[in-house]
Amino acid sequence: MQLIDGKAIAQKINSESRQTVAWLTAQGHTPGLAVVLVGDDPASRAYVRSKDAMCKELGMYSVKKELPADVSQETLLALVRELNADPAIHGILVQSPPPAHIDERAVVETIDPRKDVDGFHPVNVAKVALGDADAFVPCTPLGCQRLLIESGIETCGAHIVVLGRSMIVGKPLALLLMQKGKGGDATVTVAHSRTRDLAAVCRSADILIAAIGKPQFVRENFVRDGAVVIDVGINRISDPTAKNGSRLVGDVAFDEVAPKCRAITPVPGGVGPMTIAMLMANTITSCKRFAGLA
Ligand code: NDP
Repeated sequence: MQLIDGKAIAQKINSESRQTVAWLTAQGHTPGLAVVLVGDDPASRAYVRSKDAMCKELGMYSVKKELPADVSQETLLALVRELNADPAIHGILVQSPPPAHIDERAVVETIDPRKDVDGFHPVNVAKVALGDADAFVPCTPLGCQRLLIESGIETCGAHIVVLGRSMIVGKPLALLLMQKGKGGDATVTVAHSRTRDLAAVCRSADILIAAIGKPQFVRENFVRDGAVVIDVGINRISDPTAKNGSRLVGDVAFDEVAPKCRAITPVPGGVGPMTIAMLMANTITSCKRFAGLA
């Protein structure tokens, strides 16, 4: 069984990114990312912190904008427009989920699609569906695909079951994997909460990708011998033996499933580090495009 080391693969990608950032900076173009946080959700705050820290580690320019939970929609949109117009900023993301009174869709649609490094703007969603190479692809699906490529796992002709159909993970991932070319050419099945005989559908996969947000949901009977399993899930469960009383687990019951697999990702240390590496890579791509270097 091969343990797919997402942390090591992400480190390799980040070190390439660091070199590209140094080269761009030497030409007078430092990639800049702005992350907007509304409210003080602890998980969102932690994600924003790690994105900011990674930007700094790679030599990028990073702006963290923190707005109170009761900020008005108009103030938030005005900030996004300001960032759209800022030439030092090449990537903008508004950390999800915003408070209930904020219309997230309107926020995403206000981001300049050329700076939409999360790939959530309808223009980029359409480009991914069209197979347009100019698309900003959402970071988690892009990270999953890159993990497969870097781990030497052939997707061409493989049957891949994507468990989950969200706009952040499942749906764009299915589109990527069915595209023509490297990391694509798969036969893709998308399964979700209404899928009949879910375990049997999953068991038919050469590669099973779980993205449902249910701790350790994928059990041994969901996986056929010799399958590859990519676990996107990040779930915090209580664990009285852990230092702070809880720990992170994926959507896959790792201990039970791993012995059957040809390869599997751990949680943490699998898809998670790839997501942030892809965010940095997308921001660098945006900077190159604005500079006319891509
Ligand atoms: P969503 O809640 O948006 O979507 C969950 C999907 O799973 C839905 O399509 C839902 O089906 C499906 N689903 C839920 N329960 C079941 C079930 N019992 N059986 C079958 N399908 C089910 O989640 P996200 O896509 O945003 O996130 C999924 C997981 O990935 C989470 O654990 C999240 O934390 C993690 N994640 C990790 C990232 C990373 O960087 N590693 C980044 C983003 C997310 P239906 O549509 O029918 O309701």
